Amino acid sequence: MSAIATVDNPLLKGQGLPPFADIQPEHVVSAMTQLLAELESELANLAANVTPTWSGLVEPIDRLSERLRWSWGIVGHLMGVKNSPELRTAYETVQPQVVEFYNKFSQSQPLYAAFKALRASETWNTLVDAQKRIVEAAIRDAELSGVGLAGEQRDRFNAIQLELAELTTKFSNNVLDATKAFSLTLTSPDEVEGLPPSWLSLAAQAARAAGEEKATPEIGPWRVTLDFPSYLPFMQHGKRRDLREKLYRAFISRASSGDLDNTPLIEKILQLRREKANLLGFNSYAELSLASKMAPSVDAVETLSEELRRASYDAAKQDLEDLRTFAASKGAPEGSNLQHWDIAFWAERQREEKFAFSAEELRPYFPLPQVLDGLFTLVNKLFGVTVTAADGQAPVWHEDVRYFQIADETGEAIAYFYLDPYSRPAEKRGGAWMDDCIGRAKMTTHEGTVATRKPVAYLVCNQTPPVDGKPSLMTFNEVETLFHEFGHGLQHMLTKVDDAGAAGINNVEWDAVELPSQFMENWCYHQETLMGMAKHYETGETLPEHYYQKLIAARNYMSGSAMLRQLHFGLVDLELHHRYQPGGTETASDVRQRIAKTTTVLPPLPEDAFLCSFGHIFAGGYAAGYYSYKWAEVLSADAFGAFEEAGLDNPQALTETGKRFRNTVLALGGSQHPMDVFKSFRGREPSTEPLLRHSGLAA
Ligand SMILES: [Zn+2]
Repeated sequence: MSAIATVDNPLLKGQGLPPFADIQPEHVVSAMTQLLAELESELANLAANVTPTWSGLVEPIDRLSERLRWSWGIVGHLMGVKNSPELRTAYETVQPQVVEFYNKFSQSQPLYAAFKALRASETWNTLVDAQKRIVEAAIRDAELSGVGLAGEQRDRFNAIQLELAELTTKFSNNVLDATKAFSLTLTSPDEVEGLPPSWLSLAAQAARAAGEEKATPEIGPWRVTLDFPSYLPFMQHGKRRDLREKLYRAFISRASSGDLDNTPLIEKILQLRREKANLLGFNSYAELSLASKMAPSVDAVETLSEELRRASYDAAKQDLEDLRTFAASKGAPEGSNLQHWDIAFWAERQREEKFAFSAEELRPYFPLPQVLDGLFTLVNKLFGVTVTAADGQAPVWHEDVRYFQIADETGEAIAYFYLDPYSRPAEKRGGAWMDDCIGRAKMTTHEGTVATRKPVAYLVCNQTPPVDGKPSLMTFNEVETLFHEFGHGLQHMLTKVDDAGAAGINNVEWDAVELPSQFMENWCYHQETLMGMAKHYETGETLPEHYYQKLIAARNYMSGSAMLRQLHFGLVDLELHHRYQPGGTETASDVRQRIAKTTTVLPPLPEDAFLCSFGHIFAGGYAAGYYSYKWAEVLSADAFGAFEEAGLDNPQALTETGKRFRNTVLALGGSQHPMDVFKSFRGREPSTEPLLRHSGLAA
């Protein structure tokens, strides 16, 4: 019976392009249940018979994980782009079993032992670099998940893992509940003065949802909450200073008192993380975190952060001075004595006056087809690859989804990608992302011939759909997002690595993964690239020069403040996970206030409880990793710097530098340490100079 089910169930096809037209939510539970049962027995079989060789260990693991990845990857993809109550229920039904299987897999003692034996064996030196790195990473990840521990230590480790999972979930729930617990219902028009129509609609809708049935955007009442889409515009545009103060104070005290107080959780989480790190032989949790990242040491992160801090501090101070002068000149009642709840408001007023254009004005110059042309022309020039439409060659999950082919210089197809460009709020998650549909791998077929599986990427954006027969007209921000995701896609699609575990973005360290994506964003500001694609969709007129100049200027608006803010978060995170001793005389909040002395220009209020809602590090994956944002930005800016040095207006220099970028960063993926990859592209270690220069902060 199950054999028939396998044939009929499109989710069990296990290879090739996903047959999207045939896949239905009702396939999920039966496919995954059957697949996991088969994989369980294969895993048990492998664990019992494993040999410590590449073909006896890594290849069977690859086959096994590829089957799971193929089926579960499609389900995950559909959750993002074609969500429905049926699919969600199916997903939630099988997800715990999938997680359990992954845990079993990553904590398998026999496989861990085999990886170690392989590393110690004579065949080790016959492996290529990519293979060695795959084995090293497997050993490292197993050890970080506690596999190397025994007896009491192992029990304690597992108990810590469980407790941390509970505490971090509780932390995040507290933030959610505290955010939800606060709202203000505004009833008089003067209370919402300054707010844009989109906000008024949102606030009236929120009021209706809360029982004010007759609320309208024009007459109110309006409900403002601490959710970012409600909170931020109010701080930026709300003219009532007293209300901004009230909201601000509520925002910074979220989850810091009563039943929802996260203060004791922070203490406990930091303490358990330190203990966990010690069990694994690290001095601090920060050291544990860095063990799997590109940054070599806490010292290196601090040195880099300090370099950026010194370069941005005075600029941030100047930003604040300028803002004070500006506010005073506009007759602000608070004059030059700006408080926290005034900053976003005056920053927006100053931005409007300085740059005097709205995101909407630029849309007609960026119709999607032209932007794609511009992007494809650029990658052809830089990397020698040709992108062509291949619609109809692959089943798609929605009629708006496009399919493209990438060919190399010889005309041979080397990769493909789907592009799902438009927002579809009813079924599609917000944001933008690149995901791996099929990864590159060299494989031996049943007939014994060697074939290379070509990579296929999903590129998903959420831009404005075409309306009234017009093409999709993009904001500049949407253009940047498309370039960003395409950068991730290029690393996935132009990889030359044959071993699946290190091809494309696989096995690339977390703090280096944004290199190609942020690198591509730079080209949106490259005059030739931008002007080449920015043409009015009706008249064909090129984007007027004054807009270009404003885009360039707006890019660095208050950039010192923005950089200092990120450094503040990153340094607080690092200090808490490295030197801080929970239970000592200094509290976590004291640590933050101490670091604020050198990383803020307007010190936090004494009662500021920001840490209580810092979910990135207490409930997300950024613990002792928040610095990654800046780390990767240094890399990407410096990579672009190589093109600037070569000459942005020199086609031959661009081609040569592009080729080098393709052969290193894009081709090598996770097969080498990212520092080695970077150095083989740049000829030296990364420098902060290009990032500072691009941000207008160079000395
Ligand atoms: Zn990204």
